[in-house]
Formats: sequence, C-alpha cells, structure tokens
Amino acid sequence: MRVFARTPIDLAEQRVPRGRVYLIPERCKGCKLCVVLCPRKVLQESREINAKGYHFPEIVQGKGEECVHCEFCAMVCPEFAIFTLEVPT
Ligand code: SF4
Ligand code: SF4
Repeated sequence: MRVFARTPIDLAEQRVPRGRVYLIPERCKGCKLCVVLCPRKVLQESREINAKGYHFPEIVQGKGEECVHCEFCAMVCPEFAIFTLEVPT
C-alpha cells in the first residue's frame, strides 16, 4: 500500500504563530477538555486546587514556548477560564 503525505508547497514560507496561555484558576472546574484537546500537549492537570476544589491546568514544564495560539483551549473551555494571546515574533 502506498501512503501519500500531503505537504503544503509553501510550508517553508508559512509563519507559525506563538501564543501565551492565560488562566483564571478560580473559574476552572477541572474538566480537562483543554488538556486533552491541545494539539501541542502544552497543558497538564496541576496538583494545585482552586477554591472550588478542582485541579486546574498548568503549562507542562519546558513547553511554555510551544503554544501555537490555535485557541482550541479557549474554544472548548465551558467556564471561560483559559485563553491565549498571540506573542509577536
Ligand atoms: S492555544 Fe492551542 S496550542 Fe496553545 S495551549 Fe491552547 S490548545 Fe494548546
Ligand atoms: S477546559 Fe476550562 S474548566 Fe476545563 S480544565 Fe480547562 S480551564 Fe478548567
């Protein structure tokens, strides 16, 4: 079986955005949707808990620069507890 990998012809010209993650821990309800759906695996559940008793997400150590500002985390968060801003590069 032949497998064709699709590579955009202008891949080298494309700029990959960078994002910075912001969290409002007291809003989080620990559903982990943002953790599971982040395509770059930037987030993980922290050991800390908020006032409601939920473990909120944190940045995986060493992955602080890997967010691509896709905003999936913000889109899926039911509590509007997480968002990203683009970092100028
Ligand atoms: S914006 Fe995208 S890459 Fe960045 S933390 Fe959210 S889901 Fe992950
Ligand atoms: S999606 Fe929102 S509520 Fe769920 S764990 Fe992430 S920040 Fe918390």
